[in-house]
Amino acid sequence: MSSNESFKNDDEVTGLVFNIEREAIHDGPGIRTVVFLKGCPLHCPWCQNPEA
Ligand code: SF4
Repeated sequence: MSSNESFKNDDEVTGLVFNIEREAIHDGPGIRTVVFLKGCPLHCPWCQNPEA
């Protein structure tokens, strides 16, 4: 399956929300809300959220 086949259209994209951090200041410029998703299969050694 190619990456284009995994999503038929934008309305069908889903994800599991692991955490929502409000007033975050470490994940980009300014104050923002960050939504963390669960289920990444890549297991990068530098990952800051390996529990998700
Ligand atoms: S850094 Fe973490 S969340 Fe990002 S791709 Fe790697 S394992 Fe996935």
